[in-house]
Amino acid sequence: NTSSGVAANATTLKSKIMGTKRPKFKSPINRTNSVENNDEGTKSTKPVNGVEEPIDDRLKNIDPKMIESIKNEIMELNATVTWEDIAGLEHAKKTITETITWPMLRPEIFTGLRRPPKGLLLFGPPGTGKTMIGKCIASQSKATFFSISSSSLTSKWVGDGEKMVRALFAVARCHQPAVIFMDEIDSLLTQRATNRPQEIDEAARRRFQKRLYIPLPEYEGRLGLMNKLLESQPHELNDDQIKDICERTAGYSGSDMTGLCREAALGPVRAIQGDILEIALDDLRPINHGDFLEALSQVRASVSDRDLDLYKEWDQEYGSMA
Ligand code: ADP
Repeated sequence: NTSSGVAANATTLKSKIMGTKRPKFKSPINRTNSVENNDEGTKSTKPVNGVEEPIDDRLKNIDPKMIESIKNEIMELNATVTWEDIAGLEHAKKTITETITWPMLRPEIFTGLRRPPKGLLLFGPPGTGKTMIGKCIASQSKATFFSISSSSLTSKWVGDGEKMVRALFAVARCHQPAVIFMDEIDSLLTQRATNRPQEIDEAARRRFQKRLYIPLPEYEGRLGLMNKLLESQPHELNDDQIKDICERTAGYSGSDMTGLCREAALGPVRAIQGDILEIALDDLRPINHGDFLEALSQVRASVSDRDLDLYKEWDQEYGSMA
C-alpha cells in the first residue's frame, strides 16, 4: 500500500529507524523559531584536531562521534540551488516561497496567522525534484541544509537511529536557520505499522501541516527542462524537434528527462569514425533529433501508472490545496 508509505514519513522522527525502499518522500522541516534563533547558548572551547573550536552547551550531552559525522556527512553549508534551476512545478514554488522561504527570511513578519507550517511534506514519484526543492529552500533562505536518508540511518547507525535524529536536531538548532531534509522516510514506519495504514496517514496529516504533491512534469515542464539541458550543448535541434521530443515523453520524470538528454548527448560520440583519442573537439558533430529518437528507445519512463495512481489518490485525500 503506497499511500500508507507516504504517511509513514510523517511520524518518522518518533519512530524506530529501520529499512529503506522506494518510493521516496521528503520532508524539509523548517526550524526557524525566532526564540531559538536568539538563544545562542553558552559556548566553551575545546581543541578539535588542534584547532580551538567553540562547543555549544546544547551539544554537551550529544555523542561527539555523531556530531562529527553530522558535520562531515549531513550538513551542507553552501547549497546553491535557485528556483530557476527547477523546471516546472510553478504551484509548488509559489507556495513554498510564500509559506517557507519568506518566513525564514523575515520571521518578524510571519507571526500569528502568518506563522509558517511546522513541517512540510513533499511527496510524489521519484526523480521529480523534491531533493532539489529541499536544497533550494535552504539556499534561498540562507539556511544550513541538513540532508539525511533512512538508508544511511539504518546502515550506519544501526540501533542508534533515534539518538542520531535527536543529535541532528540539536546540531541544527545550533546552526539556525536550518532546513532538515529527510529522504526516503516513508519506509521507516511501514514495517512497524503496515496493518494500520489509515492511522499512519492521519499521523502524516497531523505532523505535517503542509503536504505538497510534487508531480511528474507536464509538457511545459519537460520543455523547460530540455531547453535548459541543451542550452550549453552544441546541438542542431530546432524548436519543432524539441517540442516533438517533449510530446513523446509524457510520463517521464525530471530525472528520466535528464537521463534521456545524457543518452542523446552520447550520440555524436558514438558516431565517431576512428580513434576517440585522435578526434578534435570541434570535429564532434552536434547532437541532433535522431540522437534523441535513438535515446527514446533506451531511456523509458521510470514511474508506473499504478504508482502514479496511488500518489494521486493520496494527494486527493491528504494533500494540501494551497
Ligand atoms: P527526487 O528527490 O524527487 O527523487 P531529485 O530532486 O533528486 O528527485 O532529482 C533527481 C535529478 O533529476 C536532479 O538532480 C535533476 O538532475 C533532475 N530533475 C528532477 N526534477 C527536476 C526538475 N523539476 N527540474 C530540473 N531537474 C530535475
